This record gives sequence, structure tokens and C-alpha cells, in this order.
Amino acid sequence: MRDRLASLKTWALRGASGLRTRFALFVVSLCAVMIVIMVGTASYLDYRDEEAKSLANVHSIANTVSRLATPQLANHHYLILAQELESIAASGMIRIAKVYDPKRSVLIDSDPATSLFDRTPIDPLLLRAIDTRQPQEEVLEATARVALPVWSRDGRLVVGAVLVAASHPELDEILSRIWQRNAAVAAFLLLLAVPVVLKFGRGFLNPIQQLTRVAHQISAGDFSARFPTERIDEIGVLARAYSNMVDVIRSNMEQINKLAFMDSVTGLPNREFFRQHFERWRLLTDGSPRRMAVMFIDLDRFKRVNDSFGHDYGDLLLGQIAQRFEGLLLGDQSGMRPGAMVHGPLRRMARFGGDEFALVMPLGASGLDEAKALAERLMQSVEVPCLVNGHELSVGASIGIAVYPDDGADVSAILKHADIAMYAAKAAGGNAVRIFNRTDGDVQARERLRMETELRMALASDQITVFFQPKIDCASGKVTGAEVLARWNHPKRGLLTPGAFIEIAEETGLILRLGDRVLELACRQGREWIDMGHPLPLAVNVSMRQLEWAGYTDRVLEILSETGFPPEMLELELTETVAMADPEHVRQATQRLRRAGIRFAMDDFGTGYSSLAHLQNLPFDTFKIDRSFIAGVGEEGSHRRIVETILAMARSLDYEVVAEGVETEEQLAFLRAAGCKTAQGYLFGMPMAATMFAAWRRPYLVAAEGQPSSVRPVQARSAAV
Ligand code: C2E
Ligand code: MG
Ligand code: MG
Repeated sequence: MRDRLASLKTWALRGASGLRTRFALFVVSLCAVMIVIMVGTASYLDYRDEEAKSLANVHSIANTVSRLATPQLANHHYLILAQELESIAASGMIRIAKVYDPKRSVLIDSDPATSLFDRTPIDPLLLRAIDTRQPQEEVLEATARVALPVWSRDGRLVVGAVLVAASHPELDEILSRIWQRNAAVAAFLLLLAVPVVLKFGRGFLNPIQQLTRVAHQISAGDFSARFPTERIDEIGVLARAYSNMVDVIRSNMEQINKLAFMDSVTGLPNREFFRQHFERWRLLTDGSPRRMAVMFIDLDRFKRVNDSFGHDYGDLLLGQIAQRFEGLLLGDQSGMRPGAMVHGPLRRMARFGGDEFALVMPLGASGLDEAKALAERLMQSVEVPCLVNGHELSVGASIGIAVYPDDGADVSAILKHADIAMYAAKAAGGNAVRIFNRTDGDVQARERLRMETELRMALASDQITVFFQPKIDCASGKVTGAEVLARWNHPKRGLLTPGAFIEIAEETGLILRLGDRVLELACRQGREWIDMGHPLPLAVNVSMRQLEWAGYTDRVLEILSETGFPPEMLELELTETVAMADPEHVRQATQRLRRAGIRFAMDDFGTGYSSLAHLQNLPFDTFKIDRSFIAGVGEEGSHRRIVETILAMARSLDYEVVAEGVETEEQLAFLRAAGCKTAQGYLFGMPMAATMFAAWRRPYLVAAEGQPSSVRPVQARSAAV
């Protein structure tokens, strides 16, 4: 009951606040007010009219009496006059008629009960008519009275006065008559006006309702609804404004949808679209799972293209490969038997990011063979080199296949298993297709998980340590600094180099804690050497994920202040590929650290194909020439020229240069001749633990105190990694 009352109340409130109801109420109240004013005014005027008519009637009788009285007063025929007055009064038109002769003070009236000789008081109205010689009138209660002067026959003298009183109709009577008449007219007008006004109102409200209806349809997602833009009135203007607004919203929505579901580099659907597509087709109409193959495709050697030619080339290459995939799928579908076309639209290729693609396809009667054959064709299509800006770039594809529902109950499980199969294809040398095999996958997945867990434990205990590799002044042979390199003292597998764990650390985000630890250990050791009187500048490697972390700058400064290592003695190394991926971000992220005095080095320089324009603006102090170039300077050829060019460029831009991976005297001789100031490599010393580094360095320190500088203690090489 209470519910019904509440819903009734809501309905009533909604009805009352509705435009239509409000308009109807407005129209009715307006009509009512106008009718009240109209009826009131008309009634007042009618009343005045009635009153005037009634007085005019009495006036005309008084005139008649006055004309009768003139000869009778002249001849003193008072009795005849009295009879005449009686007969006028008897007609019922008047109540009483009186004639007064002021000369003889005789008052004649129409009342038979009074005689001529009765001494009745003279009505003041009669006296006023004689005195003023003007007609007098008054309406008292229900009686209208008119007094007129009676003129002599020649019309010069007033010989008497006449007074006629007649019953005036009752006010209530007149008013009710007038009201009845006017109310009838008003009702008629109302009956006529309300439908006309409502009709006009409907014509006004209907387009607004139409606008509202269309707006509701659009807000419910139906963008095909059209506003009445063809109207030329204000509603049309409003409709056009709405329509323009909806066009903008529609195009924004399309753009948002595109961004949300499309990969902007290749124009292929993205991961989210793939997931939704998979979900949509996962079940058959009877609710049973539809057998589908999912391929995970990863390009081989793509990173090398990206590192060597830059991301723009990488993107163009991805675009071309996506086109090949699409072309192959389309061609494949058009060549299918008509009965098999039903599977066509279900096949979808998507790009997941980087060099990863995925494809979903329903499995027909031929089962996995069809999927394997398609995977082989996709792989072969990638093998043909792509021509990007005049360069022939060749990559390969490793493809893993998993089957729904056999290999997993949902899209995440299937993708994970296809990914594992893809890794197996990569491990087998790449450019291969592998079907997911539960045992392989489990082993590989478990191995990665084990490494991640162990790395976490390593960070919590003291298994992560740092090694130092010396940097040598080529001319004097003095130690000018050291590069700090992370090492993992694994309890079972022994000392691990970064190649075994940096990638996993980056993938899992553990690189933040790892980098933190390396920097802290390096600075603490650096401070210790300062306190011992042998200060040494240190270079620490930094990954992009560290630089992207908002708190990185604060953390570096905190470690420096905690350990007391001077910022001017610290250099942070970023690889060229990382530095060039987003130069503007690198510039911003390093700003405060540079202001604090920290130097920056571009590591593995020469592998990232930096543009000169960018180099000039990047916040670096040092280039470290990648060891692949140094390894090639032994023989005459392009590597020598590359190193010479880098050195010349560095000189002109005022950068310092460190040659990495110097292993032979020949390489050192070439670098010296080419004007390279600093070198690092096994020729001088391998990365060493702090104690070993101190021991290795001792002869240099002695040399610095007076002995020839060319002494080089190479014995440390065998005891380090
Ligand atoms: P990098 O920064 O270019 O470090 C130089 C690498 O070259 C070191 O490998 C070093 O042992 C090796 N090397 C030095 N001289 C020679 C030589 O004469 N011949 C040859 N063949 N190799 C030489 P390592 O220690 O295995 O480090 C590998 C890479 O791991 C480093 O390359 C650096 O990019 C990364 N890394 C090392 N420590 C860290 C760290 O704490 N954080 C981050 N993010 N990356 C690190
Ligand atoms: Mg380095
Ligand atoms: Mg390097």
C-alpha cells in the first residue's frame, strides 16, 4: 500500500513537473484570470447601464407630469391635477408623483389617502429643483427619484416643481441577471478558447517532445536517431545545435573506440579487441565450447632493427608485416570452400605491442593441421625481406599455438600457453612453429617463476653484490675511474653476471630494488676509498624503468647523502637505445640530478644510430663506444672509420669518450693514435670485487707516487669475471 502511495506520489510529481501539465495549467489559469477580469468589467458597465436606463425612465415620466402640471398650476386646478397624478401612479409605472406650487404652498400628490390640505413636509429635492431651476435626481435604496422645475407657459418663470419616484430594481436582482448572462458568455468563450490554445500548445510542445525523445535514444546509444533539423523556427535552431553536438560526440566516440581497440602503428585490432573477440565466439549456440586455435607470433631479430635503425624504421617494418598477415588471411578466406566461409569472420589477427602478434581461428574438421599450415605460411611471409626507406630489413617469426578448450579454459590461459609454445620455438633457434606441449610449458614457466622468486630472496638477503672494472687513461695508463657492475652470488649456481637476471628484473619491476642496492653498495664503497685517501670516480648502470620511476631522483640524492659519496664523482650510464627512445623524457628525468653535479654517460654508443640533432640536446657528458666497434678495429676497415668518426664528433661536441671492451695492445695503440682519452676492457682489468680491485689498483697508486705510469698489473684478470 505504502509502495503504491509512493509510486502515485512520484507519478503525480512527475506529471506536475512535466512541460505539458505546466503548460496546460498556465493556459487554464491565464484564461480564468482573463475571464474574471472580463466578467467583472462587463458586469460593472452593465450595472451602470441598467441604472442609467432606470433613471431615464423616471425622467421621462417626470417630464410628462411637468407638462401636465403647467396649465393646471396656472389655473389652480389642483383637484384635476391630483386625479391625473393618481391615475399615473395607478398605472404602476411609478410609486408616487408630487407637484408643488410654491406660490400658494400647495402640495399635490398621487396618494389618494392624503388631501390637499394635509400639512405634509415638502421634499427637499422639490425645493432644490425650484431653487436651482435644474432637474434633480437621486437613487436611494430601491427608489429612483427625479425632481423637475415646472415652467410657466412662456417658459420664463418656474411656477412649481414635480417629483416622481419609481421603484428601482433591486441591486441583487440586476447583478444576478448580469452575472448569469456574462458567465454564460465566459463559459462559451472558454469552451472555444481552451481547445484552440491547447492545439496551439501541442504544436509548440510536440517538437520539444520529439527533441527529448531523440536525445533519449542517443543517450541509450542509438546514434542513428535524427533531430528535426529541417524546421526553420527556434526549435530547428536548437535541433541543429544538438545535431552538431551529437556529431562531435559521435566522432569522438569513434576515435575513442579506435584508440581503445585499434593498434595505431599497424591498424590491426589490439589486445583488448582480441580478448573481446575471443569471448564473443568462445561458445557455440548450444553453449558448448567452440574449438579454436590461438597463435602467438613474435618476430625474431626485430630488436636489432629497432636498435640499429631506430623506432621509426621499426614501426614501418611492423606496418608492412601486418599488411602481409592481413593479405594472407584475406587471400586464405577467399580461397576457402563455400561451406568453410562460416569460419572466415572469426579469424582475427591482432597486435599485442612490440613485435608480438596474435591470431585466433576456429578449428574445422581438419583440426590442428589447418592451423599449423597457416602458421607456416605466416612465418614464410615474414621471411621475405621488407624494404623500409631503401633498406632491406629481414626478420623472422617464432610462432606458438595453443588450442581452446584443450589447453586452457579462458583467453588468458590460452594466450599464456601459446606464449610458452612461442618461447619454445624461439629457444629452438627461432623461425619455427611449435604447438603447446604441457610438459615443456610447465618446465619453462616454472623456471622463470623460480628465477623471479630467487631474485626476490637474493634482494632480501645479501646475495646481490657489485664488481668494479677500471677505466684507464690511454695516454698515462692511470686509473681514472671504475664501472660498477651487478653480480648475483647465487647459493647454488655460483656467481651470475647480469645477462642471467637483468631481463627478469626488468620484466618484474625488481630492477628498481636491484638498482637501488647496486647504487648503495657502490657509493658506500666509493666513500670508503675516499676515506682511505684513494678517491675514485664511479660509473653505475641505470635502466629505463628506474628513470621512469617518479621517485628515482630523490632516491639517488638520498643514497648519496646517506653514504656521503660526492655527486661529482658519480656517473650514471644509460644505453644509447634507451636514451634515444624518448630523449625529452630523459632530459627531464635527469635535470635535477645533473644540477646536483652527477654526470651522465651514453653506454654502448654506436648501436642506436643516434641522430646528431638529438645528441646535441641530450644531457650527456660521456660516450662509451660499444665494444663491438672496438673488437673490429684490429683490421683495417669500416670499424676503424666509425671509431674515428665518433671520436671526431665527440671532440667537436665537447664530450668525453670511453672505449669499451679493449682486449688487445693493438686496439689500445689504435685508440691512442686516434686521440681516445679513456679505455676500459679486459686488457687492463676484468670486473673485480672491491677487495680484489683495491689490491689490483695498489701498483697504480705506487706508480702515481713517482714510478713510471705504464705499469699495468694484468694479473688480476684471471681472478675475476
Ligand atoms: P655494460 O654497461 O656495457 O658493461 C660492460 C660489460 O662489458 C660488462 O658485462 C663487462 O664485464 C663487459 N666487458 C668489459 N670489458 C670487456 C672486454 O674487454 N671484453 C668483453 N667481451 N666484455 C667486456 P657484464 O658485467 O656482464 O654486464 C653486462 C651489462 O649488464 C652491462 O653492460 C650493463 O648494461 C648491464 N648491467 C650491469 N650491471 C647493471 C646494473 O647494476 N644495472 C643495470 N640496469 N644494468 C646493469
Ligand atoms: Mg655500462
Ligand atoms: Mg657498455
